Amino acid sequence: MTGSRHVAIIGAGAVGVVSAIEALRDGHRVTLIDPGDPGGEQAASYGNAGWLSSHSVIPPAEPGIWKKVPGYLLDPLGPLAIRWSYLPKALPWLIKYLLSGWTEARVETTAFALRSLLKDAPLLHRKLAEEAGVPELIERNGVMHVFPARGNFDNDLGWRLRRKVGVEWLELDANEMRQREPELDPRYTFGVVVEEAGRCRDPGAYVAALAAHALASGATLVHAKATGFRLDGDRLAAVVTETGEIPCDAAVVAAGAHSKRLTASLGDSLPLETERGYHVMIENPESGPRSSMMVSDAKMVVNWTDKGLRAAGTVEIGGLEAAPNWKRAEILRDHLLRLFPKLPRDIPPSRIRSWFGHRPSMPDGRPCIGPSRVSRDIIYAFGHGHVGLVGSARTGRLVAQLLGGKTPEIPLAPFAPDRFL
Ligand SMILES: Cc1cc2nc3c(=O)[nH]c(=O)nc-3n(C[C@H](O)[C@H](O)[C@H](O)COP(=O)(O)OP(=O)(O)OC[C@H]3O[C@@H](n4cnc5c(N)ncnc54)[C@H](O)[C@@H]3O)c2cc1C
Repeated sequence: MTGSRHVAIIGAGAVGVVSAIEALRDGHRVTLIDPGDPGGEQAASYGNAGWLSSHSVIPPAEPGIWKKVPGYLLDPLGPLAIRWSYLPKALPWLIKYLLSGWTEARVETTAFALRSLLKDAPLLHRKLAEEAGVPELIERNGVMHVFPARGNFDNDLGWRLRRKVGVEWLELDANEMRQREPELDPRYTFGVVVEEAGRCRDPGAYVAALAAHALASGATLVHAKATGFRLDGDRLAAVVTETGEIPCDAAVVAAGAHSKRLTASLGDSLPLETERGYHVMIENPESGPRSSMMVSDAKMVVNWTDKGLRAAGTVEIGGLEAAPNWKRAEILRDHLLRLFPKLPRDIPPSRIRSWFGHRPSMPDGRPCIGPSRVSRDIIYAFGHGHVGLVGSARTGRLVAQLLGGKTPEIPLAPFAPDRFL
């Protein structure tokens, strides 16, 4: 199954546009299909925290998390919320989610798998950004995690497993923290710097630039919503959209959290759920961090972007249809004001922007990368959850390798789309 093919890529978020670039590199003809603009606000790839954290290998569910969940849910400022009306629909996914993290061994398996996907990702992104003419958007100078106390870190399974998969870091005591981050609330007395990680200064602009590069390299963009596929036996004949069919030899499903309907149309009922997330962004802030940082107790990333200081995080289980609950974004804003006491309490609303989007999440925190069961012409590339920006670089390469019938550069068994079927 080699040679040039006409590949229709459904979804022009980070995963879709990097897949487009890598498929073009291998000589395929590419049509990108998306009702929205690449890098637009409709995509998770627009509003994420911008972390290119090759060490983000720990899935959200860890052993014993079920004991913490009630506390999170009762805390109005907590990092997790559930829309109770959606609970019956989410329950099968939530059970799989808890089971995936039930034992240390299961979490370790995911950590090794994600490490293989994410290792070198900051460098891969830097090269993609250079190719697209926007090298300034990708920085490779490390990120910081801040903790109220060292104990929060010492007892953490995640950091033990990170060490096991080969992540290295620098530890900072309270004085060193103050030197590095003089504006940070002194309540944070311990820090960890992961130097291998990088960050993106504007994820939406980055995805838009990658898409522009794909188009300049010969791809076509069709503004339409894909609704399904036309098959001829087990071979793909066309992607069906709301505005007509697009004949093609191969397709990539990269529609993020919206991929579930497309795979269901092929009979693959996959447990893909949205972990809804939010960001707030303060334009021209009076204070802030020097590094990009993850705040351990708020479970929130604070990152400088070209448009302002962005705080992103929180998980809300509530499905694709419910309207945003902007209180979740206000919680992030309030955490940010507490973190940097020199930020004024009366920042005018015109300088604060809020955004809401859908993380495409599988219960075990691993994406689906591989062919559909119905046709090897249809490749799945979605479900990257919390690591879709960083994970898009190698995912695009793997998609191209699958399209070309080559041996993938990392083992794909942990990412097999049918692992829950
Ligand atoms: C608050 C928050 C913070 C995050 N922080 C980080 C981070 O710091 N680092 C990181 O690596 N990841 C982070 N993530 C996760 C990351 O943003 C996602 O995993 C990633 O963007 C998913 O990319 P994607 O291309 O799969 O999907 P998306 O970016 O959502 O793109 C999917 C595209 O498919 C299109 N589409 C949908 N349905 C159809 C259809 N039927 N036909 C055609 N097109 C369709 C949509 O319009 C959209 O453009 C964060 C997410 C959130 C919400």
